[in-house]
Amino acid sequence: MVNSGYKPITLQEAIEIRSRTNAIPYAGGTDLMVKNIPDADYLFINDIDELKQITQDDKYIRIGAAVTFTQALDSDLVPPLMKEAVSRIAAPAIRNAGTFGGNLGNASDKADSVLAGFALDGCVRLISADGERTIPLEDFCVRRGVTTLGDDELIAEILLPKEKCALPYYYKKIGGRNALAISRVAFAGAYEVRDGVIKAISATVVGEGKFARYREVEATLIGQTVDEVSANAAAYAERFIEKMTFTRGRVSAEYRKTVVTNLFKDYFTSLK
Ligand SMILES: Cc1cc2nc3c(=O)[nH]c(=O)nc-3n(C[C@H](O)[C@H](O)[C@H](O)COP(=O)(O)OP(=O)(O)OC[C@H]3O[C@@H](n4cnc5c(N)ncnc54)[C@H](O)[C@@H]3O)c2cc1C
Repeated sequence: MVNSGYKPITLQEAIEIRSRTNAIPYAGGTDLMVKNIPDADYLFINDIDELKQITQDDKYIRIGAAVTFTQALDSDLVPPLMKEAVSRIAAPAIRNAGTFGGNLGNASDKADSVLAGFALDGCVRLISADGERTIPLEDFCVRRGVTTLGDDELIAEILLPKEKCALPYYYKKIGGRNALAISRVAFAGAYEVRDGVIKAISATVVGEGKFARYREVEATLIGQTVDEVSANAAAYAERFIEKMTFTRGRVSAEYRKTVVTNLFKDYFTSLK
């Protein structure tokens, strides 16, 4: 039950309320309604125009925290990998209400927009009455249920580096069915190949209890030819798999490991 709520219309008002109350930020409510926290006070942020913009500057595509997935799908600025990931979230009713800030703030290891953000080297801009900070998503997401969001902070924007947004990508989501499916496993990667040689590559997976990039393993692919990586896809996949811990969730650890291994192999044989 909603005990009481604040409904600011500017970001300044919102961070001032955040600094002096324990009100819980509430965007689309698609996660919070399910949690139904008893006697909660909410800080409704979905009327704040500053948080509902998709913009760009020299370096980044900037997605406001209260931008809905439907809004992102209609935008020419949002990169194809992010669009593909959010197009697979739930069903239209959830995509009409669910937001990027909520997907990140919920700290689920199944969050589809966060997976794409990881693969694109995304950052998050956090704001409080004391100032703001911009940090990589990897430094924000600690593990399932835990982030580095301060008690007085709000997520303001997700920032996606433009040079990564333009790269070819790979995305697969494995769920129990096509629509309304939370990921059992999902995989996203982006890469750059010039003259048959890998110049940049990212790979990230959901379903491990946390999001992770294995940058030291990714680095071993840089400078290799696409032909070499494709011909030895199983061996390259194994380099990542041996860094991961597979545990039972909605599916068994064995199932997860087999699917993730196959996705790595499929990714490496699809590079062009
Ligand atoms: C039926 C169903 C299916 C779903 N399927 C998927 C799916 O396929 N993939 C997927 O990724 N998710 C799925 N979800 C989860 C959910 O829809 C998403 O996580 C969504 O992005 C949450 O956004 P929201 O705006 O509704 O968040 P809210 O419920 O408003 O908030 C979620 C959390 O984020 C915090 N928060 C929100 N905004 C901010 C902010 N600006 N600053 C700080 N903290 C903030 C809130 O305090 C809360 O802890 C599903 C949910 C349902 C109910």
